Amino acid sequence: MSHQTKKIYDIIIVGAGPAGAVLAYLLAKIGLRVLILEKARLPRYKTCGGGVTYKTVENLPFDVTPALNKEASGGIVTFEGAPLLKTLVKRPFAWLVMRDSFDHFLTQEALRAGAELIEASPVERIDQQPDYVTVHTNAGNFTGLFMAGADGVNSTVARLLGMLQSREVGTAIEAEIEVSPHAMDEQGQFATFDFGAIPHGYGWIFPKSDHLSVGIYHATTGKVSDLRQSLQHFIDCQPVLNQPCQLSMRGHQIPLGGVFNTLHQGRVLLLGDAANLADPWLGEGLYYAVASARIAATVIEELLSQGQADLKCYTQRINSEIVQQLAYARRLANLVYQFPRYGSHLISKSSLMQNLIFGTIRGDYTFDAVNRLLLQSMPRIWWQAISYGGSQP
Ligand SMILES: Cc1cc2nc3c(=O)[nH]c(=O)nc-3n(C[C@H](O)[C@H](O)[C@H](O)COP(=O)(O)OP(=O)(O)OC[C@H]3O[C@@H](n4cnc5c(N)ncnc54)[C@H](O)[C@@H]3O)c2cc1C
Repeated sequence: MSHQTKKIYDIIIVGAGPAGAVLAYLLAKIGLRVLILEKARLPRYKTCGGGVTYKTVENLPFDVTPALNKEASGGIVTFEGAPLLKTLVKRPFAWLVMRDSFDHFLTQEALRAGAELIEASPVERIDQQPDYVTVHTNAGNFTGLFMAGADGVNSTVARLLGMLQSREVGTAIEAEIEVSPHAMDEQGQFATFDFGAIPHGYGWIFPKSDHLSVGIYHATTGKVSDLRQSLQHFIDCQPVLNQPCQLSMRGHQIPLGGVFNTLHQGRVLLLGDAANLADPWLGEGLYYAVASARIAATVIEELLSQGQADLKCYTQRINSEIVQQLAYARRLANLVYQFPRYGSHLISKSSLMQNLIFGTIRGDYTFDAVNRLLLQSMPRIWWQAISYGGSQP
């Protein structure tokens, strides 16, 4: 009787979002045995504004041009719908994508690099042994030397292992809206931000190739009475969204990053949203999904080459290289959301402030630097604001 030896993977990655796909790509590329287990069938819809910042694109390990939809080369700032600023920025700060095709593109790159994927296989149980991890799914049981939870903000991996039990999350709600060709032209390649759309949060309009993505982000754990109503009000206040013809709204949580946590347990690590790594100011999570995948890949490669398994250095690196910056983002968020009307007016009237804000989104400044520069430049920002004579949109 012949016994077939069960394949042991170097790493099993749970979740084929950007964090999981990029980690899979990086490790498969160096010849490791990589398995991705994904709950959904791909491509799957993901509730998201689809803003992929310049710094994210730069940090991806391969060219994603074919997956990028529209360039954001200008910003519109409104307050409770009233126009304050419409400006082109010196250099595009983001691209706008539909997440189903963007994420699918990333996963295809991982598969081309040699990773394996099993779709429709939600993780149900995890057994950790000193030398390996076994993952149980409805598609069978799989064994790996390491395991990565890249399964999003409601991470089953974290829950099954009792990790990040008191995570802080905000909430966002989004609608994909078809508007007239005239309204599409009017929005053009401008991304709209409205810090008056909701207390402690903002509303956005991001143009996609044939429609607009519109949403509201509530950047705090505090309850909002009705986020759908806030989004409807935001839509009603924006002239470009006059008479939209499709209004399916979907909500989801966004991690409020900036809190130091332990992000490993035994041979398992968490990354991306599962590790609660998103910016608590604008809710950007894609950059941190990719950044944490890069750190995870380096750590796993090193540990495997040394025959070691202690993931402590992973937690340390994520905390010092990412969470520390997200803690500075919290300070910026507190400032902007405490004085939203005042902050919006400063952005609309000071070119220095515009440079700092769009530059931070783009990745020209870290959150640490932008906090410092804002303080240092406040007298000049003030001066620009009170002596402003430029044109309004
Ligand atoms: C409304 C909204 C708007 C947003 N807009 C932006 C934006 O414009 N720009 C930006 O940068 N960020 C934005 N974000 C945040 C961004 O979507 C996340 O930070 C990002 O998706 C995190 O990527 P990830 O790979 O960690 O997780 P995800 O993208 O959530 O991927 C997790 C994957 O794991 C799979 N999975 C889940 N459970 C299991 C399981 N048990 N077993 C197997 N697989 C599982 C899921 O199906 C999914 O494919 C937004 C979020 C929301 C809610």
